[in-house]
Amino acid sequence: MKTEETVLEINLTALEKNVLYLKSRLKPTTLFLGVVKASSYGNNSVPIALHLQKKGLANYFAVAYTSEGKALREAGITLPILVLHPQPINFDDIVKYKLEPTLYSQRITKLFLEYAEKHHLVKYPVHLKCNTGLNRLGFDLNEIDEVLALLKNNTTVTVKTAYSHLAASEDMNEKEFTENQIKTFIAFQEKINKTFSHKVIYHQCNTSGILNYAHAQFDMVRCGIGMYGFANDAQLQQYLTPIMTLKSVISQIHTLQVGDSLGYNRGYIADHITKTATIPVGHADGINRIYGKGKGFVFINGKKAPIIGNVCMDMILVDVTNIPCEEGGEVIVFDKDHTAETLAESAGTISYELITSMAHRIKRVYIEE
Ligand SMILES: *Cc1c(COP(=O)(O)O)cnc(C)c1O
Repeated sequence: MKTEETVLEINLTALEKNVLYLKSRLKPTTLFLGVVKASSYGNNSVPIALHLQKKGLANYFAVAYTSEGKALREAGITLPILVLHPQPINFDDIVKYKLEPTLYSQRITKLFLEYAEKHHLVKYPVHLKCNTGLNRLGFDLNEIDEVLALLKNNTTVTVKTAYSHLAASEDMNEKEFTENQIKTFIAFQEKINKTFSHKVIYHQCNTSGILNYAHAQFDMVRCGIGMYGFANDAQLQQYLTPIMTLKSVISQIHTLQVGDSLGYNRGYIADHITKTATIPVGHADGINRIYGKGKGFVFINGKKAPIIGNVCMDMILVDVTNIPCEEGGEVIVFDKDHTAETLAESAGTISYELITSMAHRIKRVYIEE
């Protein structure tokens, strides 16, 4: 699709294919939770979640914050929504929008149980976060008995799932650490199973967990980046297609003479006659200032144009000295072939950070093949 301004083109057919591929790596009975936090990693969570729900591709959704879950409910998402990282101040909205909180500390557990009692909740679904080595959120193995004692025979809530998160599932140098996380999670499961008479759903794998540790798929997996087309692995990348394309246009072309400078703080000084193109996408759009001064690039007529000078708020400046191009012509910042991963790597960051940084002001266009 030709564009006349900066747009994010999002391919829903590629999304479906990615999910089907990831599911093909799992047992048919394993449930699939689609992680749609952070605006579905920049793709906007409402259209992504609605599409997955309509096509029957997810059993569950997860968001990080309560406000993200509220937006999904208001847009008609009816599947269960797990909130990965709620705060006590969110309890009213959690219950009002039928969101399911993670209990990750003794503090939030006690506060939620008090809240549930006070509001006469009955078997309200909650999820237990088990810390197996990430040391970010979750109960330690040596405190879980105390927590389970609070929950056992408590009729205001019901523990629907228990989960843990892998620290380095994409890094095969950390295989031993990861296998230990899996073992620790199984130790949690034994304690949890002894506490409750109902079946608790267990889940530990993120995208790279699905791809590298399928034996730890348990009852469900939580998949984010893979749905959006990134495998975190050069070999496996061939099976997934990045769904997001960032396109823009050339607003203006300048020719710099030797000694001329370009952009703020004179970030580039021409040592040869330099043809530059000005592109309407800047650090306020998510192309932050770690790019520029030769780090990072865009593609014009299939050729790589390095970002030179400093990234501005609303524009970048690229070197097109050897690229035939004209004002109004198309620019690909990243797409399925020139991926966000490659661009991110050029500046020492990761696809996750680049795609989740895409500003709301950029128009999203959804396509189906
Ligand atoms: C973000 C997140 C995921 C998704 O991870 P991907 O690597 O994007 O698949 C899964 N679980 C938790 C707890 C998360 O925070």
